[in-house]
Amino acid sequence: MSVAQQPVRILFVGGHGRSGSTLISRALGAVDGASCVGELRYLWTQGVTKNQRCGCNRKFARCAFWQEVGEAAFGGWRNVDAAEMARLHHSVMRIRHVPRHVLPGNTGAFGRRVHQYAETMATVYRGIAEVSGSSVIVDSSKFPTSALLLRRVPGVDLRIVQLVRGPHGVVHSWSRQVRRADKGGRLMATHSPAQTASEWLAFNAAIESFRLTSTPWTLMRYEDFIARPRQELSRVLEFAGLPSPETPFLGDGTIDLPADHSVAGNPMRIRTGVVPLRADEEWRTAMRPARRRIITAFTAPGMLRYGYPLR
Ligand SMILES: [Zn+2]
Repeated sequence: MSVAQQPVRILFVGGHGRSGSTLISRALGAVDGASCVGELRYLWTQGVTKNQRCGCNRKFARCAFWQEVGEAAFGGWRNVDAAEMARLHHSVMRIRHVPRHVLPGNTGAFGRRVHQYAETMATVYRGIAEVSGSSVIVDSSKFPTSALLLRRVPGVDLRIVQLVRGPHGVVHSWSRQVRRADKGGRLMATHSPAQTASEWLAFNAAIESFRLTSTPWTLMRYEDFIARPRQELSRVLEFAGLPSPETPFLGDGTIDLPADHSVAGNPMRIRTGVVPLRADEEWRTAMRPARRRIITAFTAPGMLRYGYPLR
């Protein structure tokens, strides 16, 4: 089988936002043989059409990596209708479409849109594999429908790592105001505790449903990564088909991150050099006890499932 015909192996980081996925995906992509491309589901909306900043801190159109990918895939991004791809993406990616992605009867207009999007993404992934020369592409799109769509992309060997972080830290992170260094100081999106807690349960349940399919699946808890980064990285990289990779970028409680080409994600994607590996536990002091209890009660099924103590 020639290189061009070999399936492209995608390590998909799935789960809920603000679970440490940017840091962990970059760590996974920092070893030899792997490359992190960030949240690829935003390729069309943030990269190709809006020319936003890549993880390497250059605008998308000025990033040599993404320009080479565009050339390898389509002879240049100008040869794809990016606005149409953004529309297609929007029309099939909503969380309420999960049943339409998994249950029979997925024919008609929805099925055609999924097919068209998946075919184009197959070409993108082949371009990424060719330009990066990596055998594992780390896609931190997280969204359950992104993972479901990837199952339909031809020529992809998909593996899922479900990343879970305790719900209180996730709720707290979505409720605080943070300015984005990668977008001129614009505020990051905020969500109410009700929305975050509901989505935490729903997204994790949807990603965990991959356990019942033929797609390889494994679980990683954010807190375990912070406590034992070398062990957890090695385990997941082995799962992705990269046995015993060296992780020389891990120091004592730190990680030394090179620049990468994350097309979108948390603002920390543009941070390079030595970053401390410390669990973000601000919620323990900042969250009122009453709110803490109600979040525990609401998310208890998931907390118990993923080994978080209720007290
Ligand atoms: Zn770049």
